[in-house]
Amino acid sequence: MSDKLAKYRSKRDPKRTPEPIPDAPSAAPGGNAFVIQEHHARSLHWDLRLERDGVLVSWAVPKGLPADPGTNHLAVQTEDHPMEYLTFHGEIPQGEYGGGSMTVWDTGTYETEKWSEREVKVVLRGERAAGRFVLFRTRGKNWMIHRMGAPVRDPFPPVEPMLPLARVRLPKDVPAYAFEFAWGGRRLLVPIDGGRTDAAREHPWLRGLAESFGSRTAVLDGEVATLGGAEILLFYDLLYDDGRSLVREPYTARRAALEALGLAGAHWQTAPSWPGEAEAVWRAAREQGLPGVVAKRLDSPYRPGPSKSWLFIPS
Ligand code: MN
Repeated sequence: MSDKLAKYRSKRDPKRTPEPIPDAPSAAPGGNAFVIQEHHARSLHWDLRLERDGVLVSWAVPKGLPADPGTNHLAVQTEDHPMEYLTFHGEIPQGEYGGGSMTVWDTGTYETEKWSEREVKVVLRGERAAGRFVLFRTRGKNWMIHRMGAPVRDPFPPVEPMLPLARVRLPKDVPAYAFEFAWGGRRLLVPIDGGRTDAAREHPWLRGLAESFGSRTAVLDGEVATLGGAEILLFYDLLYDDGRSLVREPYTARRAALEALGLAGAHWQTAPSWPGEAEAVWRAAREQGLPGVVAKRLDSPYRPGPSKSWLFIPS
């Protein structure tokens, strides 16, 4: 009988990695467990492993399970893993194969509808990973994973920002607005999907932010401003959160969801907002040499393009 774990063992040194390294596949094959691990290795990916004949047949999926049947994701087949890997989580030392932190993203059982050399069709029964998926081989180790059935999240909103209209005076109906500083920076929408963002092409430091989201999807709205000589991204709105579009929600709900993310880092911050405080914010903006304030209606949805629900008042 061929040793299904020979390749797995050859890549690992038991003295250097905390991963399980058994001598043989499971003595009790026939189960139908699966696990998906989130693996912050050199490049973030999710490892999908399906129990099959005493081992875990494995694929590395760079963007994780697709949420939408219209978008297939690459899945690169990796060596079979031992059954002991089903519950493995921990820190694989840097420099070792797969170095980085690994957590269990989801686990459960699955049902096989088809299993061939080129096509694996399964129904996953986990808490986060649920539904029918088909993996199909495209070339060599490369497969694609496709979700069957309905999308499990809203489509991403358009990436056109909402813009304020300029006014000379602060609005009279002060309690209807939140007041924010106008930063005079460059507007930036940051869509995050599969731990990655296209905005990192222009700003490579955004890779860390996107990776910290893991599998959580988001579209953030903000501005890259220069404060005290340093570039910083100030976030002031959230258009999409964890599979759900927020553009129809009022400002107050979007703001609460943004604050719940607790975004604070060396390169990014959540911009402050003061509901119902017009004069003091306007004076502070002027004292700090900022261009002015933006008044945002508390009950207003997010509408791409110029909108009278947002007012820019220069300082
Ligand atoms: Mn991996």
